[in-house]
Amino acid sequence: MLLAVAGFALFHDVSSPELEASPAPVEMAAPPLVAKSIPPQPELKELKREVQSGETITALLGDYFSPQEIHELNQRSRKVFPFTKICAGQPYKICISDGDFDSFVYEIDDNEQLIIRKKEDETLMKRVPIVYDVERELVQGVIKTSLFDAVNEIGEDSVLAIALADIFAWDIDFILDLRVGDTFQAMVEKRYREGQLAGYGRVLAAEFVNQKKVYRAFRFEDADGRAGYYDEEGRNVRKAFLKAPLSFTRISSGFTMKRFHPITKTWKAHPAIDYAAPPGTPIKTVGDGTIKRIGYTRGNGNFIEIRHSNGYSTLYLHMKGFARGMKRGKKLSQGQVIGYVGSTGLATGPHLCFRMRLNGKPVNPTKIKVPSSKSVAKSRMQEFNEVAAPFVVLFDETHAREMHANAQIADGVPVLESAQ
Ligand SMILES: [Zn+2]
Repeated sequence: MLLAVAGFALFHDVSSPELEASPAPVEMAAPPLVAKSIPPQPELKELKREVQSGETITALLGDYFSPQEIHELNQRSRKVFPFTKICAGQPYKICISDGDFDSFVYEIDDNEQLIIRKKEDETLMKRVPIVYDVERELVQGVIKTSLFDAVNEIGEDSVLAIALADIFAWDIDFILDLRVGDTFQAMVEKRYREGQLAGYGRVLAAEFVNQKKVYRAFRFEDADGRAGYYDEEGRNVRKAFLKAPLSFTRISSGFTMKRFHPITKTWKAHPAIDYAAPPGTPIKTVGDGTIKRIGYTRGNGNFIEIRHSNGYSTLYLHMKGFARGMKRGKKLSQGQVIGYVGSTGLATGPHLCFRMRLNGKPVNPTKIKVPSSKSVAKSRMQEFNEVAAPFVVLFDETHAREMHANAQIADGVPVLESAQ
């Protein structure tokens, strides 16, 4: 629906003849520029800088405030935003009005600013939210080499690749399962500040087609206002186990794309999934659990076994080393880093050998049915459907166009065999 509306608006604008021909509307008749010339404008100067390492508030504001005033500001800052939290590298600006200090604006983070303003005898200090103009945009891409490349190719930032991989981390192994021809689309918010793009807001809906299987996720807030992602049926995308024990972000493109899928070749003799990865790549536990075994054997090298609920356990072998604080009995939460890829024990090169067991017997992690987190409450399904429906239509339209395009090609293979 959204795309349709946007599309029509664009079409209308482009083709509309009255844009040039018709006289300006009444409210446009008096340009605001005329009013501007009446009051004398104070000369406003903005000094934009970044906090340098080791710079204190005295270094930043010493030219405009006495040591006594800075001391007072320092005291007052504790309740607003303690000056000790000012970080090197963060931008700030100092505004000078007619040669006098007007204000100091420090960027606390992407969401807030600290403002110190002199007004006659008074100095005001407050934290204010940064106001963004938010626009929604549908982004679409095709995997040719890696997710990063695909995202960059359509002019988007790598941050978006990570956001997408995070949304689908329970369904797709972005290291081993990604294939050339996989596609993604997402409705994302883009935040603009003073006309400049200033990063992404929320990802409202996303789709990933991996090896022809369609995964979709729609952002929805539960009764407590906590946001989560749910599929079209309202099932939570979060599951008891992540698909991959390594983050794809640390593995360069091509490093894994060219490798054979090890499961089919070696599963019987070697019931494990091997992830070739650069030494030192962080290894994450795929689920919440407790360390059952940790140590070294000649075959396994440095290894950890983690006990999960329902009789499952996971093993991570050949590590270069363990993350700090790992020991037997330690409780872990899903995604927590437990160690680093290495080639200790009987390993020909740096890789992670990942194994899963159910009641002590090897199981193929790609074949098990993993329980999901809480679905959308029945009482809120109608609301959820209202949120998701426009995105479903939008995503479906894309595939309808693809199908149409493919039908024109004689030897075209339907892309969406398994799309239902
Ligand atoms: Zn192995």
